[in-house]
Amino acid sequence: MRLSRYFLPVLKENPAEAQIVSHRYMLRAGMIKQQAAGIYSWLPLGFRVLKRIEEIVHQEQVRAGHIPLLMPTLQPADLWRESGRYDDYGQEMLRITDRQKREMLYGPTNEEMITDIFRSHVNSYKDLPLTLYHIQWKFRDEMRPRFGVMRGREFLMKDGYNFDIDKDAALHAYNRHMVSYLRTYERMGLTAIPMRAASGPIGGDNTHEFLVLAQTGESEVFYDDRVTALKLGSREIDYDDRAAVADVCKEFTTLYARTDETHDAAVFEGVPEAHRKVGRGIEVGQIFYFGTKYSEAMGATVVTDKGEKVPVEMGSHGIGVSRLLGAIIEASHDDKGIIWPEGVTPFPVGIVNLKQGDGAADAACEGLYKALAAKGLEALYDDRDERAGAKFATMDLIGLPWRITVGPRGLANGVVELTSRRTGESEEMSPEAAVDRIAQIYAGR
Ligand code: ATP
Ligand code: MG
Repeated sequence: MRLSRYFLPVLKENPAEAQIVSHRYMLRAGMIKQQAAGIYSWLPLGFRVLKRIEEIVHQEQVRAGHIPLLMPTLQPADLWRESGRYDDYGQEMLRITDRQKREMLYGPTNEEMITDIFRSHVNSYKDLPLTLYHIQWKFRDEMRPRFGVMRGREFLMKDGYNFDIDKDAALHAYNRHMVSYLRTYERMGLTAIPMRAASGPIGGDNTHEFLVLAQTGESEVFYDDRVTALKLGSREIDYDDRAAVADVCKEFTTLYARTDETHDAAVFEGVPEAHRKVGRGIEVGQIFYFGTKYSEAMGATVVTDKGEKVPVEMGSHGIGVSRLLGAIIEASHDDKGIIWPEGVTPFPVGIVNLKQGDGAADAACEGLYKALAAKGLEALYDDRDERAGAKFATMDLIGLPWRITVGPRGLANGVVELTSRRTGESEEMSPEAAVDRIAQIYAGR
């Protein structure tokens, strides 16, 4: 993308309404625009990151054997009357009446609808296990929408639902979700710690929240800091191997890590003092096992291999896709702007032309741009007629992990400069070497 033709409405001033750094940088970098309290347009740069995050979520769900579909945002109230949640949900639910006076709602989550789909089409153990998920906009009329996309009213969520024949199989699905989530967050450059949580309106007793540690987080968290060093890394996981998947969950949930809702001071005392930490965290996901809560209420049954008709065992599992942008920025920025992890960056690399209009510099930039494209890497080329300082400031603000700087002086010696946004370190090399280096960095993406 050539910056001269892009739509990147960068703000020079700090927007007064933004209280936390991620919100401030998302506005300043021209990623989002608020349209009403807690409701945002995703401008091109923000949209690219959102799509990238969605893609990672999809890939890891499919890898775990889960199946994508798409349910609508609007739902009939009657479905929610079946589970009893139409009344229970309260004012967070946006209720709508259509022209036929039918009661509708903008879905805050989809347990009822997925249970309805299941009961319409599945009735035998032979069709299990089954996990269906979608990535769809949700609406919750939050009392205090704030911090930009972090607590919106309209927000994008991945929500998945498992259907299993018995509790053991459903707990395996729970574990599978935990592992796939760990992998998802790691690919985004995040450390998200699974913490024992309280279940709230979804119901059920097995539930973990995934928290990204950040001063600005809304949850108070208590943890053994050795938990922050745990990594899934590149290990292969066979998602059908119940014992192997359970082992990974055990590895990640044995050290103390809880939110204030489940915190137990007496147990916490048992953590060696040097490792006992209290902090704040951003909830980027939650998994639940709730058994037959919805299947019983809504008549979603399956016939077992012994010919018995039983309510299907279920759980639901959510990732805050749009909130993740805020969480990643909270975890990865400096005073000049965002520092995108390579996994989610909107563009893999930026090209800064120090002297637009200089024949050699222009030609070298074009060459780099095309050579990168040939390797499947779309650079953001700052080809505007601007001062070098302004170009650097924009690149630093929008946070691309790598920058190639091209100027007549370097070119006279056959070199360009490759700079890491994270470390600030620069290295001179030939344009060809810079392209190869970038290609290498993103080879696994
Ligand atoms: P919270 O406690 O933050 O209100 P929740 O526990 O009600 O969230 P869940 O039902 O667990 O939310 O939804 C799954 C995920 O969706 C959450 O882990 C969070 O990342 C995201 N999410 C929930 N509410 C919002 C919101 N208002 N804005 C953006 N993301 C949200
Ligand atoms: Mg939650």
